[in-house]
Amino acid sequence: MSAKAYIEEEDIREDDLIPLGGGYSNLFFKLFQSCKAQFIYKTRVVAIDLSGPIIILRTQDNKIYKTKRVISSIPLGILQRNLIQFNPPLPEPYQRAIASIGNGIANKIYCSFKEPFWGKRKGWINFVLKGHKYNKYPVAFIYPEPKNHILVVFVAGKGSYELGQMSDEQIYKDFDEFLSLFLDDEEYDLEQVKLTRWHLDEHTFGSYSYYKVGTQK
Ligand SMILES: Cc1cc2nc3c(=O)[nH]c(=O)nc-3n(C[C@H](O)[C@H](O)[C@H](O)COP(=O)(O)OP(=O)(O)OC[C@H]3O[C@@H](n4cnc5c(N)ncnc54)[C@H](O)[C@@H]3O)c2cc1C
Repeated sequence: MSAKAYIEEEDIREDDLIPLGGGYSNLFFKLFQSCKAQFIYKTRVVAIDLSGPIIILRTQDNKIYKTKRVISSIPLGILQRNLIQFNPPLPEPYQRAIASIGNGIANKIYCSFKEPFWGKRKGWINFVLKGHKYNKYPVAFIYPEPKNHILVVFVAGKGSYELGQMSDEQIYKDFDEFLSLFLDDEEYDLEQVKLTRWHLDEHTFGSYSYYKVGTQK
Protein backbone atom coordinates (compact mmCIF):
# COMPACT_ATOMS: atom_id res chain seq x y z
CA MET A 1 0.00 0.00 0.00
CA SER A 2 3.06 2.26 0.03
CA ALA A 3 5.24 3.08 -2.97
CA LYS A 4 8.10 3.93 -0.57
CA ALA A 5 7.85 0.57 1.16
CA TYR A 6 7.81 -1.14 -2.25
CA ILE A 7 11.27 0.29 -3.02
CA GLU A 8 12.57 -0.54 0.45
CA GLU A 9 11.38 -4.13 0.24
CA GLU A 10 13.84 -5.38 2.88
CA ASP A 11 11.98 -3.29 5.46
CA ILE A 12 8.78 -5.27 5.01
CA ARG A 13 8.62 -7.88 7.76
CA GLU A 14 6.69 -11.09 7.25
CA ASP A 15 4.42 -10.11 10.14
CA ASP A 16 3.39 -7.05 8.12
CA LEU A 17 1.76 -9.24 5.47
CA ILE A 18 -1.99 -9.09 5.98
CA PRO A 19 -4.37 -11.05 3.74
CA LEU A 20 -7.28 -8.81 2.78
CA GLY A 21 -10.52 -10.62 3.57
CA GLY A 22 -12.56 -11.00 0.40
CA GLY A 23 -9.65 -9.80 -1.76
CA TYR A 24 -8.29 -6.43 -2.86
CA SER A 25 -11.64 -5.23 -4.21
CA ASN A 26 -12.87 -4.71 -0.63
CA LEU A 27 -10.14 -2.15 -0.09
CA PHE A 28 -11.20 -0.24 -3.20
CA PHE A 29 -14.90 -0.39 -2.29
CA LYS A 30 -14.01 1.27 1.03
CA LEU A 31 -12.05 4.01 -0.76
CA PHE A 32 -14.87 4.51 -3.28
CA GLN A 33 -17.32 5.20 -0.45
CA SER A 34 -15.55 8.47 0.26
CA CYS A 35 -15.73 9.59 -3.40
CA LYS A 36 -18.59 11.60 -4.82
CA ALA A 37 -18.24 10.03 -8.26
CA GLN A 38 -20.62 7.42 -9.62
CA PHE A 39 -18.97 4.07 -10.40
CA ILE A 40 -20.31 1.84 -13.12
CA TYR A 41 -19.14 -1.76 -12.87
CA LYS A 42 -19.22 -4.75 -15.18
CA THR A 43 -19.39 -2.55 -18.24
CA ARG A 44 -17.05 -3.14 -21.15
CA VAL A 45 -16.16 -0.16 -23.34
CA VAL A 46 -15.87 -1.14 -27.00
CA ALA A 47 -15.49 2.26 -28.68
CA ILE A 48 -14.19 5.71 -27.77
CA ASP A 49 -15.04 8.52 -30.17
CA LEU A 50 -12.89 11.60 -29.62
CA SER A 51 -13.67 13.23 -32.95
CA GLY A 52 -16.13 15.84 -31.63
CA PRO A 53 -16.19 18.37 -28.76
CA ILE A 54 -17.82 15.77 -26.48
CA ILE A 55 -16.24 12.33 -26.12
CA ILE A 56 -18.59 9.42 -26.71
CA LEU A 57 -18.02 6.00 -25.17
CA ARG A 58 -19.93 2.97 -26.39
CA THR A 59 -20.23 -0.15 -24.29
CA GLN A 60 -20.67 -3.79 -25.29
CA ASP A 61 -24.38 -3.63 -24.44
CA ASN A 62 -24.69 -0.60 -26.76
CA LYS A 63 -25.06 2.02 -24.05
CA ILE A 64 -23.66 5.45 -24.78
CA TYR A 65 -21.86 7.68 -22.27
CA LYS A 66 -20.93 11.27 -23.08
CA THR A 67 -18.13 13.09 -21.29
CA LYS A 68 -15.58 15.88 -21.54
CA ARG A 69 -12.59 13.80 -20.42
CA VAL A 70 -11.51 10.15 -20.45
CA ILE A 71 -8.73 8.70 -18.32
CA SER A 72 -8.07 5.20 -19.55
CA SER A 73 -6.17 2.50 -17.64
CA ILE A 74 -7.00 -0.31 -20.05
CA PRO A 75 -4.46 -3.15 -19.85
CA LEU A 76 -1.83 -3.49 -22.55
CA GLY A 77 -3.21 -6.86 -23.70
CA ILE A 78 -6.55 -5.24 -24.61
CA LEU A 79 -4.85 -2.40 -26.49
CA GLN A 80 -2.56 -4.81 -28.36
CA ARG A 81 -5.59 -6.76 -29.57
CA ASN A 82 -7.38 -3.57 -30.67
CA LEU A 83 -10.43 -4.53 -28.64
CA ILE A 84 -11.42 -0.88 -28.26
CA GLN A 85 -12.10 1.08 -31.39
CA PHE A 86 -10.68 4.61 -31.13
CA ASN A 87 -11.93 7.34 -33.45
CA PRO A 88 -9.71 8.93 -34.61
CA PRO A 89 -7.19 6.08 -34.18
CA LEU A 90 -4.62 6.58 -31.42
CA PRO A 91 -1.64 8.71 -32.57
CA GLU A 92 1.04 6.78 -34.43
CA PRO A 93 3.70 7.03 -31.62
CA TYR A 94 1.18 5.55 -29.14
CA GLN A 95 0.40 2.71 -31.52
CA ARG A 96 4.11 1.99 -32.02
CA ALA A 97 4.71 2.00 -28.25
CA ILE A 98 1.73 -0.31 -27.60
CA ALA A 99 2.94 -2.75 -30.24
CA SER A 100 6.53 -2.80 -29.03
CA ILE A 101 6.08 -3.16 -25.24
CA GLY A 102 6.33 -6.75 -24.01
CA ASN A 103 3.23 -8.31 -22.46
CA GLY A 104 4.38 -11.04 -20.12
CA ILE A 105 2.51 -13.84 -18.46
CA ALA A 106 2.73 -14.77 -14.81
CA ASN A 107 0.15 -16.83 -13.00
CA LYS A 108 -0.41 -18.23 -9.55
CA ILE A 109 -1.65 -21.65 -8.53
CA TYR A 110 -3.56 -21.59 -5.27
CA CYS A 111 -3.10 -25.01 -3.64
CA SER A 112 -5.00 -25.96 -0.52
CA PHE A 113 -3.79 -28.66 1.87
CA LYS A 114 -5.57 -30.50 4.67
CA GLU A 115 -2.60 -29.81 6.95
CA PRO A 116 0.35 -27.46 6.35
CA PHE A 117 3.33 -29.68 5.45
CA TRP A 118 5.46 -26.54 6.08
CA GLY A 119 4.62 -26.60 9.80
CA LYS A 120 4.97 -23.17 11.40
CA ARG A 121 7.28 -21.82 8.75
CA LYS A 122 6.31 -18.60 6.94
CA GLY A 123 7.32 -16.95 3.70
CA TRP A 124 8.77 -18.56 0.61
CA ILE A 125 9.60 -22.10 -0.44
CA ASN A 126 12.05 -22.60 -3.29
CA PHE A 127 11.86 -25.86 -5.23
CA VAL A 128 15.25 -26.71 -6.65
CA LEU A 129 15.59 -29.53 -9.16
CA LYS A 130 18.66 -29.25 -11.35
CA GLY A 131 17.98 -30.04 -14.99
CA HIS A 132 14.69 -31.76 -14.23
CA LYS A 133 11.67 -31.54 -16.57
CA TYR A 134 9.70 -30.07 -13.65
CA ASN A 135 11.21 -26.62 -13.53
CA LYS A 136 7.87 -24.91 -14.07
CA TYR A 137 7.08 -24.70 -10.33
CA PRO A 138 10.14 -22.83 -9.04
CA VAL A 139 8.85 -20.96 -6.04
CA ALA A 140 5.86 -20.79 -3.71
CA PHE A 141 4.56 -18.48 -1.05
CA ILE A 142 2.90 -19.67 2.16
CA TYR A 143 -0.32 -17.69 2.32
CA PRO A 144 -0.65 -16.14 5.79
CA GLU A 145 -4.11 -17.57 6.41
CA PRO A 146 -4.24 -19.64 9.58
CA LYS A 147 -7.40 -21.69 8.92
CA ASN A 148 -7.03 -22.72 5.29
CA HIS A 149 -3.58 -24.02 4.53
CA ILE A 150 -2.77 -22.45 1.20
CA LEU A 151 0.40 -22.46 -0.81
CA VAL A 152 0.59 -19.99 -3.70
CA VAL A 153 2.86 -21.28 -6.45
CA PHE A 154 4.25 -18.73 -8.92
CA VAL A 155 4.47 -19.82 -12.54
CA ALA A 156 5.72 -17.73 -15.44
CA GLY A 157 6.85 -17.88 -19.05
CA LYS A 158 6.70 -21.13 -20.99
CA GLY A 159 5.54 -23.15 -17.97
CA SER A 160 2.68 -20.73 -17.42
CA TYR A 161 1.50 -21.07 -21.06
CA GLU A 162 1.73 -24.85 -20.76
CA LEU A 163 -0.33 -24.91 -17.55
CA GLY A 164 -2.88 -22.54 -19.08
CA GLN A 165 -3.77 -25.32 -21.57
CA MET A 166 -4.47 -27.76 -18.74
CA SER A 167 -7.59 -28.13 -16.59
CA ASP A 168 -7.28 -27.63 -12.83
CA GLU A 169 -7.73 -31.43 -12.45
CA GLN A 170 -4.74 -32.05 -14.75
CA ILE A 171 -2.69 -29.42 -12.87
CA TYR A 172 -3.62 -31.15 -9.59
CA LYS A 173 -2.16 -34.44 -10.89
CA ASP A 174 0.94 -32.76 -12.26
CA PHE A 175 1.65 -30.72 -9.12
CA ASP A 176 0.96 -33.70 -6.87
CA GLU A 177 3.52 -35.71 -8.88
CA PHE A 178 5.95 -32.79 -8.54
CA LEU A 179 5.52 -32.57 -4.75
CA SER A 180 6.09 -36.30 -4.42
CA LEU A 181 9.67 -35.64 -5.62
CA PHE A 182 10.23 -33.69 -2.38
CA LEU A 183 7.84 -35.24 0.15
CA ASP A 184 6.63 -38.70 1.06
CA ASP A 185 2.93 -39.43 0.39
CA GLU A 186 2.01 -39.36 4.08
CA GLU A 187 3.68 -35.96 4.61
CA TYR A 188 1.13 -33.95 2.62
CA ASP A 189 -2.49 -34.04 1.59
CA LEU A 190 -3.21 -31.83 -1.41
CA GLU A 191 -6.92 -30.92 -1.52
CA GLN A 192 -7.50 -28.58 -4.44
CA VAL A 193 -5.62 -26.45 -6.94
CA LYS A 194 -6.79 -23.39 -8.85
CA LEU A 195 -4.76 -21.61 -11.54
CA THR A 196 -5.27 -17.94 -12.41
CA ARG A 197 -5.27 -17.57 -16.18
CA TRP A 198 -4.46 -13.88 -16.70
CA HIS A 199 -3.18 -14.43 -20.24
CA LEU A 200 -6.56 -15.89 -21.27
CA ASP A 201 -8.75 -13.50 -19.27
CA GLU A 202 -10.57 -11.27 -21.74
CA HIS A 203 -10.20 -8.26 -19.42
CA THR A 204 -6.43 -8.46 -19.21
CA PHE A 205 -4.82 -10.82 -21.81
CA GLY A 206 -1.52 -10.75 -19.94
CA SER A 207 -0.03 -10.15 -16.50
CA TYR A 208 2.55 -7.39 -16.71
CA SER A 209 4.27 -5.11 -19.18
CA TYR A 210 8.01 -4.93 -19.68
CA TYR A 211 10.59 -3.34 -21.94
CA LYS A 212 11.40 -6.06 -24.40
CA VAL A 213 14.30 -5.79 -26.82
CA GLY A 214 13.30 -3.21 -29.44
CA THR A 215 10.73 -1.41 -27.26
CA GLN A 216 10.34 2.15 -28.57
CA LYS A 217 9.16 5.35 -26.93
C1 LIG B 1 0.79 -13.20 -10.82
C2 LIG B 1 0.97 -11.72 -10.78
C3 LIG B 1 1.80 -11.15 -9.82
C4 LIG B 1 1.97 -9.78 -9.75
N1 LIG B 1 2.75 -9.28 -8.76
C5 LIG B 1 2.89 -7.95 -8.65
C6 LIG B 1 3.66 -7.38 -7.59
O1 LIG B 1 4.19 -8.10 -6.75
N2 LIG B 1 3.80 -6.04 -7.53
C7 LIG B 1 3.21 -5.23 -8.46
O2 LIG B 1 3.34 -4.02 -8.36
N3 LIG B 1 2.49 -5.73 -9.48
C8 LIG B 1 2.31 -7.06 -9.60
N4 LIG B 1 1.57 -7.58 -10.62
C9 LIG B 1 1.04 -6.70 -11.63
C10 LIG B 1 -0.17 -5.92 -11.17
O3 LIG B 1 -1.18 -6.83 -10.80
C11 LIG B 1 -0.62 -5.11 -12.33
O4 LIG B 1 0.47 -4.36 -12.81
C12 LIG B 1 -1.71 -4.13 -11.90
O5 LIG B 1 -2.85 -4.82 -11.46
C13 LIG B 1 -2.08 -3.30 -13.09
O6 LIG B 1 -3.07 -2.39 -12.68
P1 LIG B 1 -3.93 -1.67 -13.75
O7 LIG B 1 -4.91 -0.79 -13.04
O8 LIG B 1 -3.05 -1.04 -14.79
O9 LIG B 1 -4.68 -2.83 -14.53
P2 LIG B 1 -5.78 -3.85 -14.00
O10 LIG B 1 -5.70 -4.07 -12.53
O11 LIG B 1 -5.69 -5.04 -14.92
O12 LIG B 1 -7.14 -3.03 -14.27
C14 LIG B 1 -7.62 -2.82 -15.58
C15 LIG B 1 -9.14 -2.86 -15.49
O13 LIG B 1 -9.64 -2.57 -16.80
C16 LIG B 1 -10.79 -3.40 -16.99
N5 LIG B 1 -11.06 -3.49 -18.42
C17 LIG B 1 -10.43 -4.25 -19.35
N6 LIG B 1 -10.96 -4.06 -20.56
C18 LIG B 1 -11.96 -3.14 -20.39
C19 LIG B 1 -12.89 -2.52 -21.29
N7 LIG B 1 -12.89 -2.80 -22.60
N8 LIG B 1 -13.79 -1.65 -20.78
C20 LIG B 1 -13.80 -1.34 -19.44
N9 LIG B 1 -12.93 -1.88 -18.55
C21 LIG B 1 -12.03 -2.77 -19.03
C22 LIG B 1 -10.41 -4.73 -16.37
O14 LIG B 1 -11.56 -5.48 -16.06
C23 LIG B 1 -9.69 -4.25 -15.10
O15 LIG B 1 -10.59 -4.09 -14.03
C24 LIG B 1 1.34 -8.94 -10.71
C25 LIG B 1 0.50 -9.49 -11.67
C26 LIG B 1 0.32 -10.87 -11.71
C27 LIG B 1 -0.62 -11.43 -12.73
